[in-house]
Amino acid sequence: MRILISNDDGITAPGLAALRDAIADVGEVSVVAPATHQSAAGHAITLKRPLAVERVALPCAGEAFGLSVDGSPADCVRLAIRRLLDDPPQLVLSGINAGANVGHNVFYSGTVAAAVEAAMMDIPSVAFSSELTDQPVDYPRTAQVCRSVLLRLLESGLGVGDLVNVNVPNRPIEEIRGVCVARQSRAGIEDVYNPHDVENPGESYLLADEYRFIGHTEDDVAALEEGFVTVTPLRVDMTDYDKFEGWEACHWDGLFKTT
Ligand code: MN
Repeated sequence: MRILISNDDGITAPGLAALRDAIADVGEVSVVAPATHQSAAGHAITLKRPLAVERVALPCAGEAFGLSVDGSPADCVRLAIRRLLDDPPQLVLSGINAGANVGHNVFYSGTVAAAVEAAMMDIPSVAFSSELTDQPVDYPRTAQVCRSVLLRLLESGLGVGDLVNVNVPNRPIEEIRGVCVARQSRAGIEDVYNPHDVENPGESYLLADEYRFIGHTEDDVAALEEGFVTVTPLRVDMTDYDKFEGWEACHWDGLFKTT
């Protein structure tokens, strides 16, 4: 199986190297990832400048190389599939991100965006992220958790365009409570923009690192906090089908026609 790995923390991030090492025997692995940190890049793509590509040594256990692209995670996956790889990947993995991507953060995440890009191109994809706590993340350990989840997902069958978001608690494996298939949280994010330049108040603001989710229950935010690995199947199609059916039935006829 041809596997492409990307991320949003940059090609030399320890989470990517650990993921690559942990799944090296699962298939033929290629790495195409951003040259620089792209966290919270969301699904941006680069339109107005060329994308530079370089061969880069990865901080893996053995000798391994990847291609860096000076663009966004979505750029990396799209360019890899369109140009850089001899054959298209059959699976795209993204991560392991330094920081959970649960709830509304799924929309800001470059890690998830790389996986979404693959799904948009009909390739099954899985995004992996690690919770951050006051303890450092053990990426090789987290990568073993990701490997186990991936093998189970592959056993159960990942189809055309399937998109899975996986988050791993930052705790020893024996303290992980299990796997929870969790819905994406709709909890609000309470965060703060601090005045940045005290000499020129009102002119610039900086978003503080600290934030918290408000009012979450029985979702990916809650399950991760409780110590579960969360597995959330996502879809590229954001249509609200409940509304769709109601609105389709309402009277649009004659809104613009005058005859
Ligand atoms: Mn990141």
